[in-house]
Amino acid sequence: MDRRCSAGGGPCVTGGWLEEVRSLVGPRGVVTRTSAVAYESDGLTMERGEGAAVVLPRDTAETARVMRVLARHGVPIVPRGAGTGLSGGATPVSGGVTIGTARMRGVLAIDALERTAHVQAGVVNADLSRATAPHGLFYAPDPSSQAACTLGGNVANNSGGPHCLLHGNTSRHVRGLVLVDASGEVIDLMPTGPDPEGLDLVGVTVGSEGMFGVVAEVLLNLQPLPETVETVLAVFPTLDAACDCVTDAIAARLEPSAIEILDRLTIEAVEDSVFAAGYPREAEAVLLVEAEGGAAEVDATVADLVALAERHGCMEVRRAQDAGERARLWAGRKGAFGAMGRVAPDLYVADVVAPRTRLREIVALSTEIARERGLKLANVFHAGDGNLHPNISYDRRDEDEVRRVLEAGRLIMEACIERGGSLTGEHGVGLEKQAHMCDVFGDDDLGVMHRVRDAADPERRLNPGKTLPVRACREARGTGLPTDPREVAL
Ligand SMILES: Cc1cc2nc3c(=O)[nH]c(=O)nc-3n(C[C@H](O)[C@H](O)[C@H](O)COP(=O)(O)OP(=O)(O)OC[C@H]3O[C@@H](n4cnc5c(N)ncnc54)[C@H](O)[C@@H]3O)c2cc1C
Repeated sequence: MDRRCSAGGGPCVTGGWLEEVRSLVGPRGVVTRTSAVAYESDGLTMERGEGAAVVLPRDTAETARVMRVLARHGVPIVPRGAGTGLSGGATPVSGGVTIGTARMRGVLAIDALERTAHVQAGVVNADLSRATAPHGLFYAPDPSSQAACTLGGNVANNSGGPHCLLHGNTSRHVRGLVLVDASGEVIDLMPTGPDPEGLDLVGVTVGSEGMFGVVAEVLLNLQPLPETVETVLAVFPTLDAACDCVTDAIAARLEPSAIEILDRLTIEAVEDSVFAAGYPREAEAVLLVEAEGGAAEVDATVADLVALAERHGCMEVRRAQDAGERARLWAGRKGAFGAMGRVAPDLYVADVVAPRTRLREIVALSTEIARERGLKLANVFHAGDGNLHPNISYDRRDEDEVRRVLEAGRLIMEACIERGGSLTGEHGVGLEKQAHMCDVFGDDDLGVMHRVRDAADPERRLNPGKTLPVRACREARGTGLPTDPREVAL
């Protein structure tokens, strides 16, 4: 959907604030409408919008000064990291100002003893582990977009990644935050001692998708680099067999750090791309498994997993022989969405969680839903967590194809929820799943969420039109949800 100001989207807010903001951040800190094309969407490219300007402050104090000006003028705000989100969370639909963290890239302190890093929100995820490696430490959550996505974006979406099977999503790793709220006040949520006191405001903020403030700084937990790492590629004759192997591995309480599945279409796209990892083209699916920890423990986990894979008809097992081979295997996995660009110009990446006992069933159902609509669906996902990413290649210039993609996405979500799964595993609700919040929450639940949100931002100027439906669900069903932030029925 095109939500440009001129196309009847949210009103483009203009006014005297722009010069005031420019004087605070300097000319390089403001991108105006005409040159802000890169900010029109995030990775959900079928949804586009146009804000009045993009502002790029350099630190917390500057962010606060900018937000005070915007508060005085009642301008809506869309926080933005790297724009790699896949649910439209950073897409400007309110005509207001995008506040980007691209100039807030400082690693402010690393405390090797306490195993923490204090960073500005715009630090790129992978850069943090690079900075902490000399201390024998790393930052565990590793979204496949980690070469680009920011830690602030990770916090806002409570992001996951392949190794979150063992280490847990972002929420497990955030110790403290500095937040700038809608009025421009700096809220210091850094810990005052080793144990947190009072209400868990950090916990409420993680996963709040930009609705509580601009996260300006984060204090993150670090992990010691593991003593041993083993990476194994198990090759399967069918996708069903690979799914069943994962279900049984979880039932057997095996604890690898990552179990990922790539299906044949994904393997072909990866092998045809710059991310080619040497995955076997004849395979219908591969499992990419990693175990980390003490040598004996890792050996035992890998041996159990290989035995299980063989019982499920695995045709071949490859063990990475060195760090270079391990990196190649992971580069293929992490580059898989990018590689799909070879199949079609656009990619819709669904993000749902299936009960791990029903992986095979829900994966098969998703494929069928897409096939019935003449769509090409590939699977690459965090299988150990049950976090599926059925992804559909399409061309957004083809309106009918976009309609079928959206319909397939909706049906996949519904199928997953009906079978005991969840709406989103890690990509957030954003624009994409806002209406579907009504499938999992009632008006009362949503009302509570609105009240918590309103405590942080009574005017609802922060990321308006996203995540929380603003009409009662019974009204919203079938009518499409409004994106006008001023429409507040709940
Ligand atoms: C190829 C690819 C692979 C991916 N793989 C994964 C994966 O494995 N796991 C996973 O979880 N996600 C994955 N994603 C999705 C995406 O990368 C994550 O959601 C990521 O955390 C977004 O970070 P970002 O900096 O790009 O945030 P953006 O896309 O810019 O923003 C995301 C949301 O966070 C808000 N936000 C951003 N910065 C701030 C801030 N400083 N303060 C307050 N709110 C803020 C925005 O308003 C928006 O709602 C993938 C995306 C791509 C394109």
